[in-house]
Formats: sequence, C-alpha cells, structure tokens
Amino acid sequence: MGNILNSFNDDTICAIATAMSDAGIGIIRVSGKDALSICSKIYISGKREKDLLSHTPNSIKYGFICDGDRIVDEVMISYMKAPHSYTCEDVIEINSHGGMLVMNEILSLLLQSGCRLAEPGEFTKRAFLNGRIDLTKAEAVMDIIEAQNRFALESSRAQLSGNIYNEVTSLRKDIIYQMAYIESALDDPENYDLTGYSDQLKDKLLPMINKISSLLKSADEGMIRKDGIKTVIIGKPNAGKSSLLNALSGSERAIVTDIAGTTRDVIEETVRLDDIVLNLIDTAGIRETEDLIEKIGVDRAKEKIEEADLCLYVLDSTSDVEDIDKDIFKLCEGKKTIVILNKNDLTPEIKISKDILPMLFSGSDTIDFPVITTSLLNREGLDDLKAAITDLFFNGDLAPKQEIYITNLRHKKLLEEAAGSLQLVVESIDKDLSEDFYTIDLSNAYSSLGEIIGEEVGDDLVEEIFSKFCMGK
Ligand code: GDP
Repeated sequence: MGNILNSFNDDTICAIATAMSDAGIGIIRVSGKDALSICSKIYISGKREKDLLSHTPNSIKYGFICDGDRIVDEVMISYMKAPHSYTCEDVIEINSHGGMLVMNEILSLLLQSGCRLAEPGEFTKRAFLNGRIDLTKAEAVMDIIEAQNRFALESSRAQLSGNIYNEVTSLRKDIIYQMAYIESALDDPENYDLTGYSDQLKDKLLPMINKISSLLKSADEGMIRKDGIKTVIIGKPNAGKSSLLNALSGSERAIVTDIAGTTRDVIEETVRLDDIVLNLIDTAGIRETEDLIEKIGVDRAKEKIEEADLCLYVLDSTSDVEDIDKDIFKLCEGKKTIVILNKNDLTPEIKISKDILPMLFSGSDTIDFPVITTSLLNREGLDDLKAAITDLFFNGDLAPKQEIYITNLRHKKLLEEAAGSLQLVVESIDKDLSEDFYTIDLSNAYSSLGEIIGEEVGDDLVEEIFSKFCMGK
C-alpha cells in the first residue's frame, strides 16, 4: 500500500483490549518489535522458568506474570510473530483474570518494562499503516464493534471481507489503464493510435458511472439501516407523546443516554422496533411533559423537523382539531411523516377518525402521510407503526435487497466526487475536447476513489478516523 504517512511510530505499545469492567478473562495486548523481550521481563512459565523468548510463534503458553518475586497473576500468553499478526508486528496477548485491578497491575508492569500505552485504535492503525488492511476494512473493524443491529453487523462484516475495497480497486484499475493509455499515446503517437479512442473511452466510462451511481443509491438506505432513523415526536400537549416514547422504549423509565461532558440539550435516545433503529431527538422536553412546540416555539420545532429523517405526529383522536394542529401539520410537509391517531380505545369519544382526517387537515379526500391508529396507553398499534416505517424507508421490506450497501458518509462523499469527475470526462468527450483534457478528471476520480481505501490520504484524516476507535483495538 502506498502510504507515506508521518504518523507511524515503531515503539512497542500495550493496552487492555477487553472491556473496562470485571469479567472472567481479560486480555492485555502488546504490539511492536520489543513485545517478546518486554513481556519476558515480567513472565515465568508454569515450570517457573524464564523461557518466554523461546516461545514458539502462534502458540499459547501457561505461566505467571511477576513483579520481581511476587506473582501478580496466573495467565496464558499467546504469541503471534510478525508479519502474521493483527498489526503485522510481533504481538503478545496476555490472557489474565478479568478484574480491573489485576489487569491494571499487569498494564503498569508492561509500561515500567518499556511499553508505551497505545492510543485508541492504534493497533488497527498499525494494521493499516503496515498494509495488512485498507481504510475501509479498518473502518469496518470499528463498525463491527459498534454494530447495534443485524444489518449493521452484516454490512460491516462484508466490508471487512473487502466488498467495498474490491469494488473501488477494480474501478481504479480501469481508470489507471485509461490514463496510462492516453499518456502513452500522447508521448508516443507512432505506436499508439488515438483515432476513435474517445468513443471507446466513453463506452468504458458509462458503466463505471452507473456502477458508482448504484453504490450511491444504496447509501441513504444503508446509513439509515446501520445508524438509525433520526426521529422527532411532535404533537400537542396530552396527545400521547410520552406514552409513545415509553411504548417504544419498552419501559416506563426509558433509557436516557447523557453524552458525557455535554448539556441536556443533546440527550438522545435510541429505541428499536425489531431491526428498525430510531434515534429520537429532543425527547427531554417530552419527558418533562413540557410540549416541544410550546416550549421552543414553532421556528425551533421547524428546525427540529428539518433535522429529522422521520416525523411522528401524535394526535389525540378524542380532541377537536385546532389551528395549532394544522400548523404542526404544515411544518411536516415535505418530510417523511406518520400521523398517529392515538387513544383509539376511547371509542365513543373519537372526533378524528382515519376517514375524516384528510378533510379536517387538507380539505380534500387524501393526505400525503400514512395514518395509523393506536392506543399507546395499552401499547397497541406499534406493529402498524413498524409497517408504516418499513414502507416509508425500506420499500415495504426490511430484508436487505442490495449486495453492497454504502454505510459510511465519507465513502458516499468520495464516490460522489469520483462520479462527478468521470462525468466531466464524458462531457469533454461530448464536446470533442482533446485527450489531455480527460486525464485531469480521470486522475481526480482515481484520487477520490483512492481516498476511500486509504491510498492518498493525509495524516489528519488517518488520525481522525482512528481516534474514534476504542482502547485496545
Ligand atoms: P404528551 O403530553 O403528549 O406527552 O401526552 P402523554 O403521553 O403524557 O399522555 C397524556 C394523557 O393521555 C396521559 O394521562 C395518558 O395516560 C393518556 N393517554 C395517552 N395515550 C393514551 C391512549 O392511547 N388511550 C388513553 N385512554 N389514554 C392515553
């Protein structure tokens, strides 16, 4: 891999690779050229010999971690010799007891013996910088760890196995072939003939643009399937918004994630309807039974609706339609919205039914939004909600339909750039411009695709991507 990045350190790093909580087993990972010699300073075998340096690669040894004469823990040590390891360097993994105190003691001993504490994601960064994996596979590692649903897991697995890398590499191969051909022909016109070449090039480019377009088409759905649908719940006080939230959360006391170091404004909640993930925005106001619209005003409510992918508009079907209802309704125009006619258990009191709702709101027989009826108090109607969301976002079928889904915004933007550059080549051909006009756009497309897989990327981007990883990975 052609990375010439400054960020590479070749010192030996260590980190606790398992979760920072008490568990049966904990793993402390060491990587670098001195991994074996550093670990040998703090290890004795089960037969009380200091023989770690003779450890056969790709095997596991039983023994003890020691601090001088004091035994710190009974461990199993595995050794993977460079380049056949996760990082392509010598890697030692110490399987200790999984208590925080004991793992931290072992970590301290390693640090005292010559290791440096790894940065988040540094093991995977080394795997990338050493050329074992490309950037899409490195990103897939993080996505597998963070996967919150089956789709996220499966698409990340496919990405780790190279599906995006292979597509991108094959496109780049075709582009570089054409660039090389043009260059050779311009340098050596006697042996390379460019007559009729532009038509041939166009025939090659159009399928490539189509290929990228079809990848791009998968992106919006791919990202929503993987990361969830940004959802806002809206409606008048007492319509049943909190009840919807509770029904979705599955308990009276829904889980509220307070993102560390931030204010209450960014409290976000994630709920799941089977495999559909909803990222609920601005639920704090709803929880305190202050109404979103009353509290923040119509303008802010509009902003929230604009920010969301989905608007759940809860209406109390036993109350009369007021102007504010019509205002909210207007705010939702142009947005994927589901109207939830709530309190349908109170049959005799119903004033807004599915049939008359369009007339009440738009003065006609139809409205653009799907309408469902619920009794959120009794948690009834959630299946209809799920079906309505499936229709709106997944063409009525939750099963993945594409072979490859783009699930990463970075990939999406770069694919758009690449498609744009290839399109410019086609336009140059259509305008009968000379061949040297083609090369610059071909080269831009080649670079954009290269950035996806991590060729032609700068230190900053690499740092940014890996800093989001967890410790020990
Ligand atoms: P919010 O102000 O929009 O968050 O509304 P709440 O969820 O707090 O509900 C307001 C009141 O309506 C509460 O007393 C709920 O128990 C009641 N409520 C909510 N949903 C239903 C329902 O489906 N049927 C009935 N009968 N009452 C409901």
